[in-house]
Amino acid sequence: MLTPATPVSSLPDVGPRRGERLSKLGIRTVLDLLYTLPFRYEDRRGVPSVSNLKEGESQGFLATVSSIRKKEIRKLKVPIIEAVLSDGSGSVKAVWFGQEYILKALSEGSHAFFFGRIEYSEFDRAIVVKSPVFEKVDPGKKGRKSFHVNRIVPVYRESLGLTSSFFRKLLGETLLSLWGSDFDPLPESIRQKYGFNSWIKMIVGLHFPGEIPAGGSVESFLEPSYLPRKRLIYEEFFLLEFLMFQKRADIQTQGRSGRYQISPEDFSVFSSLLPFELTNAQKRVMAEVTCDLEKDYPMNRLLLGDVGSGKTAIAAWALYLAVKSGFQCALMAPTEILAKQHEKTLTRFFSPMGLTPALLTNSVKGSDRKRIVSCVHSGEISMIIGTQALIQDSLNFSCLGLVVIDEQHRFGVDQRRTLAGKGAQPDTLLMTATPIPRSLALSYYGDMDLSVLDEKPPGRLAVKTSIASPTIDFWDGTVRPFLERREQVFVVCPLIEESEAIDAKDATTRWEFLSSHFSSVEVALLTGRTPAERREEIMARFRSGDILMLVSTTVIEVGVDIPNAAVMVVESPERFGLAQLHQLRGRVGRGAVPGFFYLLPGESASEEAIARLRILEESDDGFFVAEEDLRSRGPGEFLGTRQSGAPAFICADLLRDFDVLKSVRLDVNEFFSASERQAMDHQRWVWEWTTVTDFIRSRYTGVEEWIGIR
Ligand code: ADP
Ligand code: MG
Repeated sequence: MLTPATPVSSLPDVGPRRGERLSKLGIRTVLDLLYTLPFRYEDRRGVPSVSNLKEGESQGFLATVSSIRKKEIRKLKVPIIEAVLSDGSGSVKAVWFGQEYILKALSEGSHAFFFGRIEYSEFDRAIVVKSPVFEKVDPGKKGRKSFHVNRIVPVYRESLGLTSSFFRKLLGETLLSLWGSDFDPLPESIRQKYGFNSWIKMIVGLHFPGEIPAGGSVESFLEPSYLPRKRLIYEEFFLLEFLMFQKRADIQTQGRSGRYQISPEDFSVFSSLLPFELTNAQKRVMAEVTCDLEKDYPMNRLLLGDVGSGKTAIAAWALYLAVKSGFQCALMAPTEILAKQHEKTLTRFFSPMGLTPALLTNSVKGSDRKRIVSCVHSGEISMIIGTQALIQDSLNFSCLGLVVIDEQHRFGVDQRRTLAGKGAQPDTLLMTATPIPRSLALSYYGDMDLSVLDEKPPGRLAVKTSIASPTIDFWDGTVRPFLERREQVFVVCPLIEESEAIDAKDATTRWEFLSSHFSSVEVALLTGRTPAERREEIMARFRSGDILMLVSTTVIEVGVDIPNAAVMVVESPERFGLAQLHQLRGRVGRGAVPGFFYLLPGESASEEAIARLRILEESDDGFFVAEEDLRSRGPGEFLGTRQSGAPAFICADLLRDFDVLKSVRLDVNEFFSASERQAMDHQRWVWEWTTVTDFIRSRYTGVEEWIGIR
């Protein structure tokens, strides 16, 4: 019996060769096939009779072949097949070019449904039908309806030699065998609430829609309001939220590593360690973190905060509470520069209470490294800050209670999990400066609680952003005066070395030009290829102000804090995402001097790309920029390759369907709340949801890995 899990290669009509091609397209099971949707529909319903045919349209009709013959015309390389098709009302000529097999398929007296373009022929002085597709009909029998003609038909993308009509027939046959299936990943109550059809009806409606609604056209089957499509959008979100819900529920039943000791004085003690007043947003997020740490299951929180919004203070608060409660804690950052910066900041915060964080990066070697590893193991080191070096096998903790990960999107799921795995259900706080639109955050990080730092520390001036052209005038007129005032300049290029294929300025060539052009000041080059020690030295000298201009690739993107940097120039900004540019922009204007951000689009930048860059000129709000970025690039591009395990929706669109997502979240929570679950027939629930979980697994390969369900 055919089930959604049946491999497509075992379907009649497929065979090994087509099976392999389908598999290359990601279609391995019947389920994959069912979710391979047509990209448009064609109205191939018939007109009542031959006399109703209209010139200039593609039409279908039932007729009998009165005569058929092959004609060789010397001027043409291929023979012509001509047939006269008639019904009681009249007749029309059909013409095919070179398709000799037609002579085998049709003969005088054949009765068939034809569909093709009706054109006026000068030669015949009458209308003819050009290369019609057809399907023979046995007039005596009331046979099955054709998949290809005499109805509204789906049109599929053709690929690897698999034609649209191949897909149409395969889907048609498959749907006939599955008809009546009572499988459904959506619960009954949800279906009723929204008036959704059953799953199989949805699938059929997506492939072989019924009648066109009055006043509509075949286009209306592509609209999100078409009921089967509406259900599919809902279903896609529902399945995802279901997984998120499971993950949250899993965490909540885990129990935590131990109790935090939090007292009312902690807040004032901690605040007195900081050299500034906390913003209201910081206080609010600290309260959210505190609340998590008091729960009886581990914290799993994502902190979103624009560059410079003061996320480090939140990390420090959590670290402080952990150490005070007798736990070890770890802070992991994606680069050595950042890890060191955190170590410096936190040492300054915590040294008055006699606490010195340890630093572990790949440049800590030999006996220093040995000592750190052994003190972490024994528990003598309670707070450790580092890079990926923290996830090495040899580092073991005695009681790791809290893990903080900065710029979390820079790490893979595995890396984050490996660090957390060094403790027993530790609390985790993930931080990111990539302003993720709420819609994305809800769906892609829906298993986590969300905190947002939406207020900048006082006294920050907005960075002035302008699009400029990369002329000598720009460097002399605009940039030189900053250098003369000894204000520092970043120049960011998309590439390390020149590439012929891409018109984008490379850092090395730029540096050669700028260091000779501004020969009186020191201009340094920093790329991913610069050796670590050299990088350190350059950063230290840039920070101290010896180096005035730093030409680099995006290695400086993350978290670097240089208060005296006034200017950032970005070459070929069209090659970056808006959210990334916004992050870069956050590197300047951090101190007393106002910041300037110049974008120098490459010659080949399209008008569209420049229009996109104007969004940065207009807005300084990271969340707004991110929302626009998502709109123009779509979620896959937006999240970047790190998150590539994330499922792609077939039909749902996070921006367009955000309201649906919000109601799905509520529905899922309500549906799975304990009382509801008990009320349900236990037996049935288990059966259904086991099937549904399998269903999701096959629908979204990689999703478990990504969400972290095993
Ligand atoms: P983020 O990591 O969110 O980009 P940081 O934590 O590095 O931001 O903070 C950016 C800068 O702002 C740092 O120099 C920090 O000392 C400063 N800062 C943070 N919070 C405040 C505050 N409430 N008031 C004044 N300055 C602050
Ligand atoms: Mg930071």
